[in-house]
Amino acid sequence: MSSERVNLLGLPRAQLETFVAARLGAKPFRARQLMKWIYRRGAADFSTMSDLKQEFRTQLAEIAEITVPQIVTEQVSKDGTRKWMLRMDEVQGIETVYIPEPDRGTLCISSQVGCAMDCSFCSTAQQGFNRNLSVAEIVGQVWLAHRELSGSRPGHGDGRSGDARAMITNIVFMGMGEPLANYRNVVPAMRTFLDDLGYDLSRRRVTLSTSGLVPQIYKLAQETNVALAVSLHAPDDALRNELVPINRKHPIAELLQACWHYLDEQNGRSVTFEYVMLAGVNDSPAQARALARLLQGHPAKVNLIPFNPFPGTHYRRSPAPVIQRFRDELLQRGLLATIRRTRGDDIDAACGQLAGRVIDRTTVRLGSKVIGVAVQP
Ligand code: SAH
Repeated sequence: MSSERVNLLGLPRAQLETFVAARLGAKPFRARQLMKWIYRRGAADFSTMSDLKQEFRTQLAEIAEITVPQIVTEQVSKDGTRKWMLRMDEVQGIETVYIPEPDRGTLCISSQVGCAMDCSFCSTAQQGFNRNLSVAEIVGQVWLAHRELSGSRPGHGDGRSGDARAMITNIVFMGMGEPLANYRNVVPAMRTFLDDLGYDLSRRRVTLSTSGLVPQIYKLAQETNVALAVSLHAPDDALRNELVPINRKHPIAELLQACWHYLDEQNGRSVTFEYVMLAGVNDSPAQARALARLLQGHPAKVNLIPFNPFPGTHYRRSPAPVIQRFRDELLQRGLLATIRRTRGDDIDAACGQLAGRVIDRTTVRLGSKVIGVAVQP
């Protein structure tokens, strides 16, 4: 039964070494060979791993597997952004987005099916929370994107050329879900992104974006050193309580303290603060000045995100000149501030538009909450 086999996808190196030693009596270098096959060459079938002894491959296939999520749909935006809907099990789907730019390629991955944070301007919130993704399901998104991107280049379809690896230069946890609410699976997945036998990305090219789970930020500071992005969205607690409800538990002052602690511990350069631009809600020059006062003198960058609308929302995007003015107020006060270019909105792949519609019309009940019903066209 496949369910009794261990899925090797996303197993951090130390665990894989222990696994091959304890179950197969193999030396640690066997684990390293396996990692090269899985992550560099995109192999999912032990029988293709030609530099492993036949006997080892057969034994391995009896106790282990490399199972990747299944692609339900792929959409390609006119700007080159691609969105995959992945099937996680009978009813659940999540979305992964690839954003190509001239100097880099960013993969935006999900950490949960749905999300429980309930931010008022995010479409994932409307879906409610269903479950955490496993380590294999998180790493599987990167594995699949590599396969799909290498397949998309004529003449490079064997996944061995290294091209696809070069196409994904950055990974951001900005898809569906709150990564720090799935801490125990997100942290091991990040180890594989950073491992030189995994995806070999530098710590500054892996970004964890959080709505502000303060205790987990402190914990993260002890265990990893990836780039941190924080969804701030408001310069005062009254407004942030409304937009990002977790603020009622962990208000702004507490959150910022955790951010500065993270930088101190990790010798990080700066924290990026995401700020969605909502017309008439959080976009006035006075609010920009208040935001500048909060962050001045700290290693902070602000990333202004034009709001991406979705069906049923009452929010509107701030007009471009308003966003520009807001940015100027920040720049005048010495803060680094950028405006995020909207990508993939024609295929609902932009920030906050990922709804991860499920495969069939099954309605999943979690307590009193009813989740996810639409069918992907
Ligand atoms: N849970 C994580 C990841 C969320 S998605 C977090 O809260 O940071 C990444 C970013 O997109 C977050 O800053 C989120 O607030 C923002 N976002 C959500 N909905 C949006 C929308 N409709 N338009 C623009 N940005 C949105």
